[in-house]
Amino acid sequence: MKYKIEYSDNLPKEYGGYCYFPLVPVIGTCRIVIRPKYRGDIGLHEHELVHCRQYRRNFLHGLLWAISKKYRLKCEIEAYKEQLKNYGCMTIDCAKWVARALYEKYDFDITYNEALQIVKTALIPH
Ligand SMILES: [Zn+2]
Repeated sequence: MKYKIEYSDNLPKEYGGYCYFPLVPVIGTCRIVIRPKYRGDIGLHEHELVHCRQYRRNFLHGLLWAISKKYRLKCEIEAYKEQLKNYGCMTIDCAKWVARALYEKYDFDITYNEALQIVKTALIPH
């Protein structure tokens, strides 16, 4: 998958990074935009790259992402897992911010406690 990374604050305000899928499936270039203040945050870069790979695996990714909360949640879990791994975070204490993000940023219709449960069961190594 071709991708390019830009550093800009021109992205949805609640995000530190964002992955824009190409208009032309499969051969198009994924555009990852990262806020300049997170330039050195490899975990965030890895998170966005996971979304590029999800798109490569399934050219309907962008559509499913938009219409299915269940699919979107699955994709975010995969991306945050990679991000936490990169940070060396293996406990709920250092991963709590992800529960907050899942609860607030993606319109998943879940409570904070449900988000916390997802982080505990799906994101922390057992
Ligand atoms: Zn994400």
